[in-house]
Amino acid sequence: MPILAAVRLSHFLPTLLLLVAGVLVAQLTALNEFFLSLFNVLPTLLLLLGGAFCVGYGRQRELSLLVAVYLAYFLLDTQTDYFRAQGKVREDAVLVFHLCCLLLPLLYGLYGAWRERSHLLQDLVARAAVLLALGSVTLALAKRFPQELQAWLGGLQWPLWHGEWMTLLQPTYPLFLIAAVLLLVQYLRQPRPVHAALLLGLFGLLWMLPKTFLLPHALQVMTSLSMLVVIAAVAQEAYQMAFRDELTGLPGRRVLNERLQRLGRNYVIAMADVDHFKKFNDTHGHDVGDQVLRLVAAQLRKIGGGGRAYRYGGEEFTLVFPGKTLEECLPHLEVVRQAIEVYRIQLRDKQQRPRSDKQGKQRRSGGAASEVSVTVSIGVAERGQQGTPEEVIKAADKALYSAKSAGRNCIRSPGQRRGAVKLEAANS
Ligand code: GH3
Ligand code: MG
Ligand code: MG
Repeated sequence: MPILAAVRLSHFLPTLLLLVAGVLVAQLTALNEFFLSLFNVLPTLLLLLGGAFCVGYGRQRELSLLVAVYLAYFLLDTQTDYFRAQGKVREDAVLVFHLCCLLLPLLYGLYGAWRERSHLLQDLVARAAVLLALGSVTLALAKRFPQELQAWLGGLQWPLWHGEWMTLLQPTYPLFLIAAVLLLVQYLRQPRPVHAALLLGLFGLLWMLPKTFLLPHALQVMTSLSMLVVIAAVAQEAYQMAFRDELTGLPGRRVLNERLQRLGRNYVIAMADVDHFKKFNDTHGHDVGDQVLRLVAAQLRKIGGGGRAYRYGGEEFTLVFPGKTLEECLPHLEVVRQAIEVYRIQLRDKQQRPRSDKQGKQRRSGGAASEVSVTVSIGVAERGQQGTPEEVIKAADKALYSAKSAGRNCIRSPGQRRGAVKLEAANS
């Protein structure tokens, strides 16, 4: 199934580890001074720092979610502080607790599944309006009719649906379930780290609520970790956006530039460029072009000899071999060149359909093929006695031009005779 194929354990693993750590720490009845002070300020710190981070990245959804979780924390923490100081619960504790149990999954599910719109300010205003409306109505009812509201909430019980394990108000569970289903569907539709974190964070909160008054640190620890996993997932996505090329999944130009600063004395750099790619795009359409770039990247990613592939830009890729000589790298480059040459790309029906009259005409004259293939030309250069990475890239680029003028689908290095590489590689 294509949806399940995109599900990644790596989307869940960091969040899962953090939450499991949170569960373990929350079980401790006595925390030492340092961790006690840390967890006392952590939710507030995370709201401020994580909130600022979300604002910076235009992540209204996660921002509103952090605010909702923090508000529940604030209300419950006031109650647990009183409980700890006085040895008994405050008179409004039951009402506040029940309202938090109902409103938290409601707001969490709503904000988590509510996708950001393009207009960030409008989006933020709409979310704030929901919070304000819900909060003010609840507050007004709780102030005006505390007893009646508490009695009504207490009466929300259907014996038929009651399970022995249900320690929270019964409607809390369907609300958590609805929120979990919404977030799961969201993840399956768009498998992203942040969607996985939102889903698991919800379970963290469900675990925490019944233990709010039972375990002394459950509230601070699990609130902190539920907020942290969301912020960490936003950070992970921000990193990927900045450093990973979205189309091919290869590290992008920024990572390459950083890598170039850390190369030792000896290294080899190769520039690979897809042959006649403009014509390929014109004939088969940009979507097929994108698919081909992904496949070329997948082959280049397999490069041996300690090499690493980067997307330089457009249909150009860079391969870096730290600590290697030209002779050591050439056979590996030849292997990927050949792998790309022989790879047959199946065109699906939709992709075979011409996108314009011009394209259709081109296809008919060339005969509509259900399989296509591309080739790459590669220019490769090694660092001599001296030279900066930029100079080596320039030399590899120059060699790439020679590969293009030598008829494409071949590898060239500076000052190399025609056909020499293929011969050397064949002999090795
Ligand atoms: P040569 O063999 O000399 O390299 O010819 P070429 O047509 O490949 O070279 P040129 O640099 O003129 O064309 C590169 C084309 O790559 C132009 C652009 O349409 C296409 N291209 C660049 N980036 C992308 C991309 O992300 N997706 C798709 N589908 N096409 C891209
Ligand atoms: Mg090019
Ligand atoms: Mg090209």
